[in-house]
Amino acid sequence: MINVLYGDDILNHVQALCKKHGACLSTPPHLHIFQVGNYPPSTVYVNHKKKVAENIGFKATIQPFDEHEKNALTEALKNAAHDSNVHGMILQLPLPNHFNQQKLLELIPPHKDVDGLTITNAGKLYVNTPHFIPCTPLGVMALLRNWRQKLHGLNALVVGRSPLVGRPLSILLQNAGCTVTVATSHTKDLNAILPHKDIVISCVGKPGLINAKHCQPGACLIDVGIIKEKGKLFGDIVWCAQDVHISAASPVPGGVGPTTIAFLMLNLLKAAFEQEGKPLPKDMAALYP
Ligand code: NAP
Repeated sequence: MINVLYGDDILNHVQALCKKHGACLSTPPHLHIFQVGNYPPSTVYVNHKKKVAENIGFKATIQPFDEHEKNALTEALKNAAHDSNVHGMILQLPLPNHFNQQKLLELIPPHKDVDGLTITNAGKLYVNTPHFIPCTPLGVMALLRNWRQKLHGLNALVVGRSPLVGRPLSILLQNAGCTVTVATSHTKDLNAILPHKDIVISCVGKPGLINAKHCQPGACLIDVGIIKEKGKLFGDIVWCAQDVHISAASPVPGGVGPTTIAFLMLNLLKAAFEQEGKPLPKDMAALYP
């Protein structure tokens, strides 16, 4: 039987920890989200982040900007960077094309960078001394550890190399001792790479890109991709209960999604602990790779 890797268990566990440890702080952790434009999926995501944060007693502020307010956004990022009442900052992506995304991200101080997207935090992950790591890759690693405690020695394929998901994930897997292959849009024959991979993680956003029938017996398939078509959500990987040769798979929705929000809340709590000069509780620290 396939071990279906649901993200809700991880989310529930993290929410309980956030409630317990958040109460030990002098003020609730405060997340400041900057949203540019009115891209509908971004609105859904930022509202969800705010709702989850408030449900566990954290504070969240969404500050909207229209597509012409580049200077106002810059000023607001600088203000929040210096505001001791703000513990974590998120610049919701994607930004409109005429915005210099990395330049704006660099206005977030690394200690408030709960999405782990500044060059400082990306560099720390690269040299295996991580501080803030992007939330989706953290969620994927937590799902993998629910499948196998020890990942070293396994062959992993990561499909996608974005700074938000695929690239940090491939580094986390290397840091965990996996032999990692990274596929991109230039990869010639994806199906030819699938055999001999113990772990296959797709981070693309193309429904049906990978089919479980091409994967090796015992493989674990993690689907990060999420695409809405005709009102229905799809992932990149096609698998069903009859694919008994695979060992585990994450569903879409309900797999990686809840773990992403879980690690955003955990990163925010971590930022608040650090800013109060308090050590991270052991049960929180244990959730990080
Ligand atoms: P992205 O920035 O568009 O990156 C997509 C990556 O896929 C790129 O590296 C691209 O390669 C690669 N790619 C495109 N076509 C490919 C193909 N045919 N074969 C192999 N690789 C291919 O997207 P992203 O931000 O990483 O997000 C990826 C997906 O994950 C999206 O569906 C997004 O909605 C979803 N997502 C889900 C969560 C969650 O919490 N569940 C969080 C974040 C993202 P090149 O670099 O060569 O162009």
